[in-house]
Amino acid sequence: MSAIILNGKELAAQMETAQAQRVRDLQARGVSPKLVVVMAGDNPASAIYVRNKARACERLGILSDTIHLPQTVSQQELLRVIDGLNADPTVHGILIQLPLPEHLDEDAALLRVNPAKDVDGFHLYNAGSLLRGEDGIRPCTPQGIVRLLKSAGIALDGARAVVIGRSNIVGKPAALMLTQENCTVTLCHSHTRDLTQITRQADILVAAVGKPRFVTADMVKPGAAVIDVGINRVDGKVVGDVDFDAVSAVAGFITPVPGGVGPMTVSMLMENTLEAAWKASR
Ligand code: NAD
Repeated sequence: MSAIILNGKELAAQMETAQAQRVRDLQARGVSPKLVVVMAGDNPASAIYVRNKARACERLGILSDTIHLPQTVSQQELLRVIDGLNADPTVHGILIQLPLPEHLDEDAALLRVNPAKDVDGFHLYNAGSLLRGEDGIRPCTPQGIVRLLKSAGIALDGARAVVIGRSNIVGKPAALMLTQENCTVTLCHSHTRDLTQITRQADILVAAVGKPRFVTADMVKPGAAVIDVGINRVDGKVVGDVDFDAVSAVAGFITPVPGGVGPMTVSMLMENTLEAAWKASR
């Protein structure tokens, strides 16, 4: 068996038509949607992600700005910048590019962002709204995963989903969003016993571990949908958390790396920004 590729790059490109139309609709109401990214220091991976986000904004006609603070910026100055963006009515989305330099308090910075402009969905208010299944801004990567699964017509209701990884930005919110979609979810992590026994029961398997080719073919139920969130650099090449070649012989659906979850994450950031702009204009 050879798995069907869940092409996130293609789906994200298709979604751009509707997103660009939404930008025009907002502009017709006198609103120019705007995203501001705050970054500090010179993390090379962050610089690539920030550039990708700015390019996506440009393609859609969303205004974007990057505030690049020095590596040595103080917490007080960072919070002052966030306060300024919170108070600026022309800014609809604020994204704090992580990781911040070590001397800065990331949690305090995320908490400072107005939840209505928190397009990454990392503020405690939005995390709480996800936990409770209430309205709020959802983190982009898990949102992209659900979108990708739905677009392929993969049944979520009643499906067994296993998420490997319990980070606040991917694993935990992915487990909650799949629960919201009526999956029966098991959340695994570095202390999980008999991982393979658990993952082999998954109709939907999400790998968000950060270890190259961690998920091997023996861990996958035949026909399962395997979602690879990992971005790992090995010998100058980007590889996921899934052993793609071996697993695609067993799985029913699989996301490639690159070109799977990554582009969907950026696409969901655009959706969150447009939604925030629309809500602000009401
Ligand atoms: P993280 O380091 O915060 O979390 C990793 C998780 O993996 C932890 O919860 C840990 O318990 C679990 N883990 C580690 N070893 C394990 C083991 N042996 N067995 C089971 N679980 C184990 O990472 P993260 O921020 O969630 O990111 C995970 C990966 O996804 C990284 O490669 C990251 O670069 C990538 N990522 C991709 C996107 C995207 O848009 N595609 C977005 C965010 C993160």
